[in-house]
Amino acid sequence: MAHDYDLIVIGGGSGGVRAARLAAGHGAKVCVIEEYRLGGTCVIRGCVPKKLLVYASRFSGMLDLAPSFGWQMDGTFDWPTLLANKDKEIDRLEKVYGNLLKGSGVETRADRAVVSGPNSVKLTKSGEELTADKILIATGGHPFVPEDIPGHELGITSNEAFELQTLPKNILVVGGGYIAVEFAGIFNGLGVETTLAYRGAQILRGFDAHMRESLSEEFDRRGIHVKLGTQPSMLSECEAGIRVNFADDSDEEYGAVMFATGRVPNTKGLGLENAGITLGKHGEVPVDDYSRTSCKSVFAVGDVTNRAALTPVAIREGQAFADTEFGGKDVKVDHSIIPTAVFTSPEIGTVGLTEEQAIEQHAQVDVWIARFKPMIYSFKQTESRTTFKVITEHQSGKVLGVHIMGSEAGEMIQLVGIAVTMGATKADFDRTIAVHPVAAEELVTMKAPAYRIVNGERLSE
Ligand code: FAD
Ligand code: NDP
Repeated sequence: MAHDYDLIVIGGGSGGVRAARLAAGHGAKVCVIEEYRLGGTCVIRGCVPKKLLVYASRFSGMLDLAPSFGWQMDGTFDWPTLLANKDKEIDRLEKVYGNLLKGSGVETRADRAVVSGPNSVKLTKSGEELTADKILIATGGHPFVPEDIPGHELGITSNEAFELQTLPKNILVVGGGYIAVEFAGIFNGLGVETTLAYRGAQILRGFDAHMRESLSEEFDRRGIHVKLGTQPSMLSECEAGIRVNFADDSDEEYGAVMFATGRVPNTKGLGLENAGITLGKHGEVPVDDYSRTSCKSVFAVGDVTNRAALTPVAIREGQAFADTEFGGKDVKVDHSIIPTAVFTSPEIGTVGLTEEQAIEQHAQVDVWIARFKPMIYSFKQTESRTTFKVITEHQSGKVLGVHIMGSEAGEMIQLVGIAVTMGATKADFDRTIAVHPVAAEELVTMKAPAYRIVNGERLSE
């Protein structure tokens, strides 16, 4: 039986839009169904507006430094101006996404889709049922809020943080992952007294220990209060806003509380059981290396699959799906090396193995470290330090991981990521001529390892 479309994509975010455009380019008849706004999390309430707020938050640090370079500046900040400009830019990008789809010959529907069978979806607003040879689930995720905390509904998530009508005087950010540390940096830079409460022993679990410690120290220097080993046990209303009782028996009052406690896949009520698909234990859609689900006509890419919740990964997965299913190629995504950045101030950029992972996987590991005062502080006393850490396998010299904390670490790690993905060795780094004076020249001028680790034991310092 002929279907309405070759491909229906549920979700017009990073992964869905890329897959739809490429499939259409391969000659497929494609329809994208989006229930909120084209562009998805990244464009509407993720990476893009976040980076704009990060830029805004960095002016305060520059204003502090300006007088030492001879500049006198008036440091008045107006949140409504930033919010309005951010909204204008996001509206523009949303239209660009719509036009890109239109230009690729992809149809779009502004509706919520529910899978009604292996080849059909039902639109909840219009009531229509559409059929397709293949269905791609690209529905992303949404913030998780720990509902076992009484009063949790008084808190906001990143979604609402982008829409705050006024900035609070002080804020508590709960969590220790990407979103928690990035927003703690944003609020702090915009002049909000900021506390971050994380239940674990150190922020950014999963990152290299040096980076975690260095960022924690830097937060301290910048006046972000980091409360480790605790989390809210109750939220209640008070005159100042929200009173938070912590698990360690302390309590504080805040103008706002933001939960940055992870994200969960958007699969609730999506009807995947109608295609015979059983969800994973985090509510994700289980897929194989080709983004195939257990139903042969249904595929899934991006955050909804709970692989690596990053925009470039969702895009790559969408591209690989379209090229394989409609372009006659055989493309899998290699998730083993994923460069990534945390947009705090300063940033963290990381690619490859952490020291902990390198020790688990290799008998002999060399660790190279450069730590120095950033040049922009030449005229000012500071304890702030830029850190470069390179981890190599001792025998071959192969670079296993690079971790950077410093200004523009995100930009740097994208480029180092190419070398690491190509399998570069320390000798390759060393024969690269330095650029001077830039921070990144440290990457190619490290003369001796800070220490060597043999069978898990640290040998020299
Ligand atoms: P999404 O972009 O979430 O798109 C899914 C779309 O599906 C949404 O538009 C949703 O409305 C729609 N949808 C859901 N259910 C239905 C339905 N039933 N019917 C119709 N439509 C539906 N990643 C980075 O790489 N770098 C960053 O700096 C970065 N910063 C981030 C900051 C924040 C605050 C957040 C929240 C995320 C950030 N991310 C970042 C992660 C990144 O945004 C996601 O990994 C990426 O957007 C995932 O793309 P996706 O296509 O899987 O899903
Ligand atoms: P993360 O998974 O990075 O962090 C979640 C944090 O919440 C962790 O510190 C976790 O603690 C904590 N947490 C989880 N459950 C609870 C709970 N019940 N009570 C208290 N704390 C809890 O998620 P985020 O929400 O920060 O971000 C989601 C994803 O989006 C990221 O993983 C990343 O993939 C992507 N992203 C990427 C960005 C970038 O590339 N720059 C920026 C923002 C998001 P614990 O560590 O103990 O589990």
